[in-house]
Amino acid sequence: MTEKGGQHSDVLVIGGGIHGLSTAFHLAQSGVAVTVLEADYCGRHASGVNAGGVRTLGRHDAEIPLALSSRALWHELAQTLGDDGGFVPSGQLKLAETPAELEECRQRVAHLQRLGYTHEVLVDEQEVFDIIPTVARHVVGGIWVKDDGYAVPYKTVTSFRRAAQRLGVKVLETTPAQRIEQRGSRWQVSTPAGVFSAEHLVITAGAWARELAEQVGESVPAHPEGLMLMVTHRVAPFCAPVLGATGRSLSFKQFANGTVVIGGKLIGTVDFPGRHGEVDLTRLSISARTVTDLFPHLKHLGVNRIWAGVEAFTADDLPVIGASRKASNLSYSFGFCGSGFQMGPGTGKRLAQQILGEHSDISLDAFDVGRFAAMPELTDIRSAHLTHPTDISLSSH
Ligand SMILES: Cc1cc2nc3c(=O)[nH]c(=O)nc-3n(C[C@H](O)[C@H](O)[C@H](O)COP(=O)(O)OP(=O)(O)OC[C@H]3O[C@@H](n4cnc5c(N)ncnc54)[C@H](O)[C@@H]3O)c2cc1C
Repeated sequence: MTEKGGQHSDVLVIGGGIHGLSTAFHLAQSGVAVTVLEADYCGRHASGVNAGGVRTLGRHDAEIPLALSSRALWHELAQTLGDDGGFVPSGQLKLAETPAELEECRQRVAHLQRLGYTHEVLVDEQEVFDIIPTVARHVVGGIWVKDDGYAVPYKTVTSFRRAAQRLGVKVLETTPAQRIEQRGSRWQVSTPAGVFSAEHLVITAGAWARELAEQVGESVPAHPEGLMLMVTHRVAPFCAPVLGATGRSLSFKQFANGTVVIGGKLIGTVDFPGRHGEVDLTRLSISARTVTDLFPHLKHLGVNRIWAGVEAFTADDLPVIGASRKASNLSYSFGFCGSGFQMGPGTGKRLAQQILGEHSDISLDAFDVGRFAAMPELTDIRSAHLTHPTDISLSSH
């Protein structure tokens, strides 16, 4: 295949999820000519189908500086992109249902304070009921983060894509990168639409990034998982903040239209060759039970829609962000382990700074791809099992 005229850019980005588009947008803000190659359409995968949680609450220590910087960008999104991506600064609350869980919350907040962070605040039973009066009375307290919130995922991705395009970024959908190779210092990427070249290559291909990294001899212990969500029918407003739980898996929010989105890193299955996730109803029912325990009045609320999106998980639950250890002018940003939507704005900005050689106080060392060299075994891609959704309600368990 030959390189066609007009297919050279300063930077080629593979993957049009929030990370690829945010990186492209921030590079373009500095005058860089960027082309984004997207295999499907922008936001088709995790970035467009996630739960929309904009959560700094509960982050791994290493992620906190990046997550906090990203949150600041979420609050400025309307000014930066000309569209707020549906961001609502509703706050996020993690509930403790027993004294032991409350003690866990207390220790977490004390740990963060020792590190100098004050964004997570311990709240008692009364403060929880003040924030969310409809919650079950057995709740004994929790952790409150008032500046967290949620957004509308597909809207956010579209906002980044449009803002990037206004700055001159070329976004080519249905254009999968098949082969990447470096000729001299220049990168060449083969696609069904021809060969694209650039001085710098950025891989933001989500669950498929590992395969592309392997083409340059970079082994990353990452595997895809199908993360599940369900959306209920509409119900009168009863819950303003995003809720999580300490002792069980839960992510729960009510949108302005009355529907309730329920998730919490619930693992379904993945059809990796088919490029989609599949729902496991048995596991989904665990989440439904948590919701009806905390909000008994929802017991007969119908479930409108269920789905699973495909997300990359790494062996140490931290993303890969930064320069390749195997090739020059190659950067990665993937493996966000179910929490990368919130990180999108900040990580794209930080990666663009690194590519441009600009200084930042936010270290990417913990996310260096080289950290896996000490890990003896790579995680295998898990096999896919198909399940078939049927009609359910929250009380179907
Ligand atoms: C159900 C679910 C709920 C979640 N909830 C939350 C949440 O509440 N809060 C939160 O912070 N995070 C959440 N996440 C995680 C978050 O969605 C992801 O971490 C984030 O969207 C990852 O973005 P990405 O750009 O790296 O990947 P993706 O969005 O997967 O984008 C990668 C893109 O690369 C493309 N691609 C792949 N291979 C190629 C190729 N060869 N050539 C060209 N393009 C290619 C894909 O088509 C895809 O569009 C959730 C994820 C899921 C699945």
